[in-house]
Amino acid sequence: MIKVGVLALQGAFREHLQAIEACGAAGVAIKKKEQLEEVDGLIIPGGESTAIRRLIDQYDFMDELKRFASSGKPMFGTCAGLIMLAKNLVGYDQSHIGVMDVTVERNSFGRQRESFEASLDIAGIADDFEAVFIRAPHIVEAGENVEILSKHNGRIVMAREGNLLGCSFHPELTDDYRITDFFIQMIKEAKNLA
Ligand code: GLN
Repeated sequence: MIKVGVLALQGAFREHLQAIEACGAAGVAIKKKEQLEEVDGLIIPGGESTAIRRLIDQYDFMDELKRFASSGKPMFGTCAGLIMLAKNLVGYDQSHIGVMDVTVERNSFGRQRESFEASLDIAGIADDFEAVFIRAPHIVEAGENVEILSKHNGRIVMAREGNLLGCSFHPELTDDYRITDFFIQMIKEAKNLA
C-alpha cells in the first residue's frame, strides 16, 4: 500500500491524514525525521509558515526534507506548505526548504478577504473544485519547468514542477478528494519509475 506522510509539527495535518485514508492509501503523521524513510510521498500542510519553520529547525528536519525532495519522492505543499517549498519569497532574503522554482508572496489576497472560497478550474484534475483560501499565498513567478495548474483572478494558485506540487488553498478542508487522489497518482508514477 502507498504510504503518504504528512509533516505533523503544526497546522492542518489531521485533515490531510483523513483525506489520504479516504483515497485508500495509508497516512503517516511525521513527527520525527527518521519516519521520512518509511513514506513514499510527503504533504506539508497549511498552518503558519514561520511556526512550521521554527519547529523544523527545533526537530532538526531541514536536511532530511531537502534530501527527500531531491530523491525524487513527491512532495505536496498546501498553503503554508507551498511557502515552505518555494525557492523565493517576496520580501524575505531566505527561503525555507527552497526546492520548487517559484516565487511566492504570503498573505496576498488582502485583509478584507482573509478567508474565502472559490470554484477553480484545475488542469487535469477538476473544473469545479471548491477551494478554501485562508490568509493564502500565491505564486508570483514560476520557472520554465513549472506547470501552472490553476489561477484565481489572474493569480497562480496551483502548480507542479516534476515531483513537487503546490497550492495556495486547503484541499483537505473539503470532502472533495480529487487533489489528494492526484497526488497519490504522482506517488504511484514515481514509484514505478524508481
Ligand atoms: N498565512 C500563512 C503563512 O504565511 C499561511 C496560511 C495557511 O496556511 N492557511 O504561513
